[in-house]
Amino acid sequence: MSALFTLHEGASPLILSFPHSGTRIPEDIAQNLTPAGRAVADTDWHVPRLYAFARALDVTWIEAKLSRYVIDLNRAPDGAPLYPGQQTTSLCPHESFTGEPLWQQGRAPDEAETARRLQRYFTPYHDALTAQIDRVKARHGYAILYDCHSIRGTIPRLFDGALPVLNLGTNSGRSCDGGLQNAVETQMAQHPFSQVSNGRFTGGWITRHYGRPEAHVHALQMEIAQHAYMDEAPPWRWDAQKAARLQQALRAIVKTVLDWPARPA
Ligand SMILES: [Zn+2]
Repeated sequence: MSALFTLHEGASPLILSFPHSGTRIPEDIAQNLTPAGRAVADTDWHVPRLYAFARALDVTWIEAKLSRYVIDLNRAPDGAPLYPGQQTTSLCPHESFTGEPLWQQGRAPDEAETARRLQRYFTPYHDALTAQIDRVKARHGYAILYDCHSIRGTIPRLFDGALPVLNLGTNSGRSCDGGLQNAVETQMAQHPFSQVSNGRFTGGWITRHYGRPEAHVHALQMEIAQHAYMDEAPPWRWDAQKAARLQQALRAIVKTVLDWPARPA
């Protein structure tokens, strides 16, 4: 069992990835954080719990245990900004979503430390994800990667106004087959939640890097506004009643993805 992530191999064509739901921080790194950093407020809270139903659907599951403050698994390893020209967090973030410093004075990760974290924490997750995509594709002729996220619904520093509850990202149609995107959008529209495709969140580095529909690898990102299933303030309380309603939609969406009739050439 890896200290960095949980991996479960399933027999279906679907892989669920949870790059931001971990909260652990190795002690040598944690000692440099500010109290705001140690609070890991920008975690994609409870997202694996939200998708727990999918374990019974024989999906492959890869879930990060470490916090995105150690290194962000959904950013380009060369440090390229995700949304050029817009406020966005980086590979080894220095500030929280609201702009609070994460690191004590003089203790923010420099280039050498970033390189160390890439090798030690970033690469193993992506090596495992790549191996799973290859395994699933060898078995089915195609693979679908569904990257699972959530974020507070209002963060003025990062985006204007309130985020819809369901935010589908497909790198503006480039990371998956158009028929799959249509099927998911049709399913999303059956549920009473605000929603958008390729709005503020078009898919992070994972979606963009792995989504290669021409090579029969289809990637989707689902970003969820946290108020739809939890309190958006410490202690980040799970709301069972709201979560159950949201899970009905997510279950239907995941089933739609599983049922999508991919026909590789
Ligand atoms: Zn996320």
